[in-house]
Amino acid sequence: MKRKLSTQLVLGFTLIVLITVALISLAANLLINWQFEKYVENQQREFSDSLAKRLGDQYDTERGTWNLDYVHGFGMYALDDGYIIRLYDASGESVWDAENHDMTLCRQIMQDISLQMKQKMPELAGDFVTSRYELNKNGNLVGYADISYYSPYYFKENEFRFVDSLNQILFVIGMLSVVGAVLAGALLAGRISRPITEITKIAGEISEGNYGIRLEEDARTKELADLTQAVNHMALSLGEQEMLRRRLTTDIAHELRTPLANVSSNLEAIIEGVWQPTTERLQSCYEELGRLSGIVADLEKLRQIESENLKLHKESVDLLELAETVRDAFLPELHKKQLNCQMEGGPVIVSGDKKRLYQVVSNLLSNAVKYSDEGGTILLKVQEFNGNGMLLVEDHGIGIPEKDQSLIFERFYRTDCSRQRKTGGVGIGLTIVKAIIQAHNGRISVESKEGRGTVFTVVLPSDTKER
Ligand code: ADP
Repeated sequence: MKRKLSTQLVLGFTLIVLITVALISLAANLLINWQFEKYVENQQREFSDSLAKRLGDQYDTERGTWNLDYVHGFGMYALDDGYIIRLYDASGESVWDAENHDMTLCRQIMQDISLQMKQKMPELAGDFVTSRYELNKNGNLVGYADISYYSPYYFKENEFRFVDSLNQILFVIGMLSVVGAVLAGALLAGRISRPITEITKIAGEISEGNYGIRLEEDARTKELADLTQAVNHMALSLGEQEMLRRRLTTDIAHELRTPLANVSSNLEAIIEGVWQPTTERLQSCYEELGRLSGIVADLEKLRQIESENLKLHKESVDLLELAETVRDAFLPELHKKQLNCQMEGGPVIVSGDKKRLYQVVSNLLSNAVKYSDEGGTILLKVQEFNGNGMLLVEDHGIGIPEKDQSLIFERFYRTDCSRQRKTGGVGIGLTIVKAIIQAHNGRISVESKEGRGTVFTVVLPSDTKER
């Protein structure tokens, strides 16, 4: 059975507090009781010693007699406190004996103490014991005193009350702590579980396709703020993905429609006898079909590169040399548009799959050519950057609107402006470029100003770093 987070938190808190309070109470109780018992035990021993000393003082050495009035008063006072005194002279003759004096009272007191201690503290297993004291005066032995009291110690009424109220206070503190823990636990649980419930609700709505929804950030708890941020971010990317998915369908349809329409209208006209199947017309159909095959081939290439088990045949590649080779391959096209392609920088060795990297530079240069106006300049620059290889492809063509810059790497994405141009592109080139660079653990970024030009920057791990 799944329990609510708030219930678990309250239960957890209460359990922790219960254990803590129980341990503290137990320790406090044991410690205080133990200390108190020791204190009482000492008090009683000291009292017994002082009784013996004061009894010895009642001997008159000159007359050789005892101050019996005092001994009697003293003995009765001690009896009240639970001390039974027997006084003997030096020859061992009884001088005063509490039991002889008031046997009933003595028994009564001994019984009361024993009964109460056995009832309330049976574990103590105490009993009345007698200690014999030698009584000396001026250095001479004047007699003996036998003092009996309940050993190791005994509690009087007020001492029992003290221990009881101590236990009661500890119990009340314990109860208050438990109530406090339940309240604090409920408060904290509410604080934690409320935003989580809210996040769960919103996540449910996102999963239903409501990507526009956003959560308010919890400013008090870092983890919850992070979670909220992550959920908001997820909603944003899912929204973007959804938008791209919809656009992709439209874009694919758009890319396929034109060649298919051209081919079918041409063939229709030939079949109906409106047009003669001249070589030029068939050639035009063939080219349109070639364009369709090109799209399929590009998609196949992309699938290959994006497939997880893409095998890169890595070797040391000089980016400058590679850029020069690509530039040379483009010379006819550059010439056709009277474009001036400059090279800058020196050799930089990176580790990569030469064929795939050729494709990267070729796609970027092809775009630079496609989107440059006649007579423009293109710059290919190779340099080292933070120990990595860096290649820049810069043109002064139509540029890319800011809103499109993050989207041009998506498949079939083309800016409105480029759609109007008959470039022959279908919007897969940059997707392939990005996939190849990512497979090389590199990065690609774009900087562009509409109507001014574009710079694509590729960073690839250098040869030494890869090893
Ligand atoms: P395409 O085959 O259409 O060129 P890409 O994937 O290579 O496809 O590029 C996607 C889109 O990015 C292009 O349609 C174009 O709108 C834009 N783009 C790419 N490179 C450039 C550039 N150098 N100048 C202007 N726009 C560019």
